[in-house]
Amino acid sequence: MFSKRIKNLKAYKTETSPAKIKLSSNELPYDLPEGLKKRIQEEIAKIPFNRYPDPYANELRQILAELWGVKPENIVLGNGSDEMILNLALAVGEPYEGITYPIPTFPMYRVVADSLGRPTYEVPLKPNLELDEERFNRVLENYNPALMFISYPNNPTGNLFDRKTLDRLRKKVPLMVSDEAYFDFSGETYINEAINPSENVVVLRTLSKIGLASLRVGALIADEAFIKEMFKVKMPFNVTYPSQVIAKVVLTEGLDFIRWAIGQVISERERLMNELQKMEGVKVFPSKANFFLFKTPYDADLVHQRLLEKGVLIRNVSYLPNLKGCLRVNIGKPEENDIFLEKLYEVLKELEKEL
Ligand SMILES: *Cc1c(COP(=O)(O)O)cnc(C)c1O
Repeated sequence: MFSKRIKNLKAYKTETSPAKIKLSSNELPYDLPEGLKKRIQEEIAKIPFNRYPDPYANELRQILAELWGVKPENIVLGNGSDEMILNLALAVGEPYEGITYPIPTFPMYRVVADSLGRPTYEVPLKPNLELDEERFNRVLENYNPALMFISYPNNPTGNLFDRKTLDRLRKKVPLMVSDEAYFDFSGETYINEAINPSENVVVLRTLSKIGLASLRVGALIADEAFIKEMFKVKMPFNVTYPSQVIAKVVLTEGLDFIRWAIGQVISERERLMNELQKMEGVKVFPSKANFFLFKTPYDADLVHQRLLEKGVLIRNVSYLPNLKGCLRVNIGKPEENDIFLEKLYEVLKELEKEL
């Protein structure tokens, strides 16, 4: 009954092991302040729950447009940017035309392509975690994929790929998607290109990494004509009424809090990476996101497990291409980061003695 291509898929698995300190999903470490939650409650109480939400999410689009310096007509919202990844794969190119992206990267590009039965062309990063331009060129020239997904900065490696390389590559593909889930921590963007109809880039943004992962609100930013087409494939009521209401409150009245939290994460990123770098045998990889990769001299499964036993959950990415021995940790609150540093130090000392 199910299609062969679905039979061969595996459902998305995320680490759910309970841990005192969770630094594994790149979430913002701060929940909303109590006063803001009260205001959300008041606004939620006003929702006509029997009614469908605004399919255009006009008020929320207006707020986001101002924040991002574009027009509301440049934005279509999704139930998370995940949904916009799916919609792009539904809408751009023919089903038999492929989708390309570097690996390792965000797993949803592949999940979406596989679900739709579209060919995937995965191009491994170079050992320095930069794009392999030669290999990409061969893929673009030989297979003519319709769509290239770039996580910018890249998850799980944390780096921003070289922009000149990206600009050369995108000349050879109909459309490049710049997935800017971590924009608020990197400050680098393709948004100006995205709203220009003569450039072949669109941008993805999300509220998930800046404190609203629970809401599931993501955005696709492109020129007006592109957005018009995307509205044809979007499920009409994909962004719920409560999500629209809450996002509006947080992005207006709560904006100072969100900006403060982002600033905290960025300064803690620099501190944490510095401290980790000082540990013997530890290599820290550059990052412009709210997480970073590091490598220890020991087996990554073992380090990951021992940290979990001490109440700290991070992400084991050591099974991915080019990431042998690597672990990914996101920035927590200062006190959480201190505990992570302390527990990691203990684990490394224990392993040094044992092995
Ligand atoms: C977290 C993440 C997303 C997730 O987006 P949602 O808006 O929560 O669906 C998208 N892209 C990348 C690269 C991510 O790391």
